[in-house]
This record gives sequence, structure tokens and C-alpha cells, in this order.
Amino acid sequence: MLTGKRALVTGSTSGIGLAMAKALAGAGADVMLNGFGDADAIEATRKSLETEYGVTAFYNGADLSKADQIEAMMQDAEAKFGGVDILINNAGIQFTANVEDFPVEKWDAVIAINLTSVFHTTRLAVPYMRKKNWGRIINTASAHGLVASVQKAAYVAAKHGVIGLTKVTALETAETGITANAICPGWVRTELVERQIEARAKDANISIEESATRLVSDKHPSKQFVSPEQIGQTALFLCSDAASQMTGTHLSVDGGWTAQ
Ligand code: NAD
Repeated sequence: MLTGKRALVTGSTSGIGLAMAKALAGAGADVMLNGFGDADAIEATRKSLETEYGVTAFYNGADLSKADQIEAMMQDAEAKFGGVDILINNAGIQFTANVEDFPVEKWDAVIAINLTSVFHTTRLAVPYMRKKNWGRIINTASAHGLVASVQKAAYVAAKHGVIGLTKVTALETAETGITANAICPGWVRTELVERQIEARAKDANISIEESATRLVSDKHPSKQFVSPEQIGQTALFLCSDAASQMTGTHLSVDGGWTAQ
């Protein structure tokens, strides 16, 4: 389905991004990975995409909090791929504190990585997509792009911002073959969430599993976590022809969280 397409997935060395990269590679897309982690592990992941799915996979370790590194990554993608057909803006970090205690440098980091990087990759990817008259921009927002929770000022602000940016991008490209949409996952048990589960277990003096159960039950009527693979398949759907008239919207995959 995606043979001949080139996808850049930011924050794809683990969790949701890696599952998205696998889903796209599984459908035949060549992939550029991005994110932090152990160099050998990342190289093993890159190679396994090539051997498992028969696609070409690259890695660029740009720090998405830095505009110049994002520009270099997009140039690298152009040099290696010829251009990015599918842009998945997925890299993200979390930090929790009450707004009056929120460290300014943490606010800046969350906004830079979770929101500003999406602006930079989008502005740099759209000209090529316009030339091809085809493109898919998929932004991993969050249930927190739609509703708020305490202690997540920067994250909630960034994710609401991502949904706004998604809508503007969609309107500006509406008469082309480009679509821009956001996916809003609920709780997915990745590194980002594991750290929150551990912190809550420590605070409440309960086991990790009890903490995980409480965390998910508190927000998801389904009382179940979403899997990274389910988000990967959602991204794949947004790349399909069936989704060519879906633009400027979001898909919630959140066990019913935001229906409440
Ligand atoms: P994760 O920690 O497993 O993955 C985050 C990825 O972003 C990693 O590859 C990491 O290396 C990369 N990254 C972090 N800082 C970076 C930087 N400065 N430059 C480049 N890459 C950087 O977490 P995840 O849960 O898979 O998160 C992926 C996305 O999904 C995030 O945007 C997150 O906000 C969003 N999300 C997650 C959940 C959840 O429950 N896990 C829910 C809703 C939305």
C-alpha cells in the first residue's frame, strides 16, 4: 500500500513512534527513524526494519528541541530519500508539577519538543509534498490535546497547540493531496507512562501493577491500556486512500476517556 513512499517518524526509537514506523514499513514505506537511545539498540532496530519488511531504513538522531538540528534532519531526509511523503510528528516528553512550581526550563523543553518541533518539520516538509501533490502529516497529540489534567500545564498546552497547528496545516493544504491529522491516544504503556506509574506507586506506597491499574481505570472507562500497535495501525489508516478526505481532524484512541 505504501511502496515507494518515504516516511519520517520522529521519536521512533521506542514506544508509539517505533510501532508507527513498523506499521508503515510493514506496508512497504521506507522509513527514517529519529529519537534518542543506545546506539547499538537503535542500529539493531534500523536493521530489523530492513530485514523484516524489505524496506530501506535510515536513522537521524536530531535533538528536536533544536531548530538547526531539525533543519539538518530534513535536509538529510531529502538527501537520502528525495523528500518526505509521510511526516509523523511523534517525539514527546512529559514533566509533571503544579503550575506555580513548574520549572521554567521544563516548560521550555516540553513546548520545544512537543509543539515547536512540529511547526519546524511541517514548514520544511510541506513544500515537497505540494510539489508531489500528495502527503500525509500525522501528529501524535494526546487525549491531553482535548482535555486537561492537573500538573501537566506544559504538556496540555503543547498538545492543544498541536491540534490547532494540525487544523491550520489542513486548511492551508486542503486543495492539495496533502492531509494533516492528529491522533489522540489515551494511556499507552510506554517509557513515558511507566515513569508516571512508578512515581504514583512510590507516592501511594503500592505495587507498580496496582499503580498501573489505578492510573488506567481513573481515565479509561474501558479500564484497559491502548497498545502502541493500535496507534501504529491508526497511522496506517490515515495514510490510506480511504482517509484522503479526512483532514484537520483528530482520531481518539483512548478507551472512552474523552467521551466522558
Ligand atoms: P516514549 O518515551 O517511548 O517515546 C518518546 C520518543 O521521543 C523516544 O523515541 C525519544 O527518544 C524521543 N524524544 C524525546 N525527546 C526527544 C528530542 N529532544 N529529540 C528527538 N527525539 C526525542 O513515549 P511514547 O509514549 O511512545 O510517546 C510518543 C508520543 O506519544 C509523545 O508525543 C507522547 O506525548 C504521545 N502520547 C503518549 C501517550 C502514552 O500514554 N504513552 C498518550 C498520549 C500521547
